[in-house]
Amino acid sequence: MSDQNPVFIPGPTNIPDRLRAAMHVQTRDHRAPDFVETFAPVLEDTKKVFGTTEGSVITFPASGTGGWEAAICNTLSPGDKVLVARYGMFSHRWIDLCQRHQLDVQIIECPWGSGAPADKFEAVLSADKDHTIKAVLVTHNETATGVKSDIAAVRAAMNAASHPAMMFVDCVSSLASMDFRMDEWGVDIAVSGSQKGFMLATGMAILGVSPKALAAMETAKLSRTFFDFRDMMGANASGGFPYTPPLQLIYGMRESLKMLFEEGLENVYARHFRLAEGVRKAVGAWGLNLVAESPELYSDTVSAIYVPKGFDSNALTDQAFNAYGVSFGIGLGEMNGKAFRIGHLGSLTDVMVLSGLATIEMAMADLDYPIELGSGVAAAQDYFRTHRSAMIKSAA
Ligand SMILES: *Cc1c(COP(=O)(O)O)cnc(C)c1O
Repeated sequence: MSDQNPVFIPGPTNIPDRLRAAMHVQTRDHRAPDFVETFAPVLEDTKKVFGTTEGSVITFPASGTGGWEAAICNTLSPGDKVLVARYGMFSHRWIDLCQRHQLDVQIIECPWGSGAPADKFEAVLSADKDHTIKAVLVTHNETATGVKSDIAAVRAAMNAASHPAMMFVDCVSSLASMDFRMDEWGVDIAVSGSQKGFMLATGMAILGVSPKALAAMETAKLSRTFFDFRDMMGANASGGFPYTPPLQLIYGMRESLKMLFEEGLENVYARHFRLAEGVRKAVGAWGLNLVAESPELYSDTVSAIYVPKGFDSNALTDQAFNAYGVSFGIGLGEMNGKAFRIGHLGSLTDVMVLSGLATIEMAMADLDYPIELGSGVAAAQDYFRTHRSAMIKSAA
């Protein structure tokens, strides 16, 4: 039973058969002359997903957290000031990582459920006349609260303050599922990973790095060895890797990119919006509330949903797992016990989402939630029937 797919957690996500097959390969010598033929196009094609032509793609064998560390260590020095807003567990963890690296972290505390406060960033940056702030850190999609932040607005705020800081963006749970425009938004480093929108096994941190961030490497004094951009890019340029590459994941990445481009990135984003809307219709029909404060903040990859007062969200996710063998996201940090999360990203269709909604409804009914069994499913069905997938229509 525990083998039952899909999971409804916001990463790691379901791995489609096609990608599991792509990763099911025998060892090959990464020092053989043909490794470059496999790897170089993967790096090049990943740029399209980041929305960059000017930037470079750099990968490390790591989870997304390793990508954060790589971003910091290659571009900053101990004592450097960074500006960051805390509005969920992932922005919180990035702050912790910066502090442990002896950065001077200026934190703007925001309610969980809100997003990156462009206006507050602008005020702080305008007041920073000596430009002591070296980087602004933004979590694009706060997976703990289901909040999407407006990165273009943060860039506009930085421009309005005429501030030269770099902008680093965590897009681990948004890249390859929600629109991302690294060049247009002026993102200096975008950090992602293999196990969410790319639908792969965990183990590859994937970064988009701007020329400005690469230049910052020249003076950055934080120490780095495993995560050194220069070592990685130097080796990649000649078709190699500074140590043993995660070969199976590289094969998986090649196939994942193929799948994303076959569907078309615009269609991938539209599918995630549609799936998310179906979930949101269900939440409305249950009479429950999203953690995200307002519609422009709604994430298309994960919904965090408050349980009614007097109920424990951990009991709900336990019930779904124990009774039906299906995983949903627990409430993280401040949200623990108060909210559960439905992950709706990666390899998912309308029909799969309906199964998740039906499952969590059963778990809620088991625990005497004040909801009507079937109400959320019906609301999502209605939405999906009237907003059919363009992909399926064109195939019919
Ligand atoms: C998943 C995730 C990460 C990275 O987590 P890892 O477990 O290290 O891969 C970082 N930020 C966000 C917003 C995430 O959703």
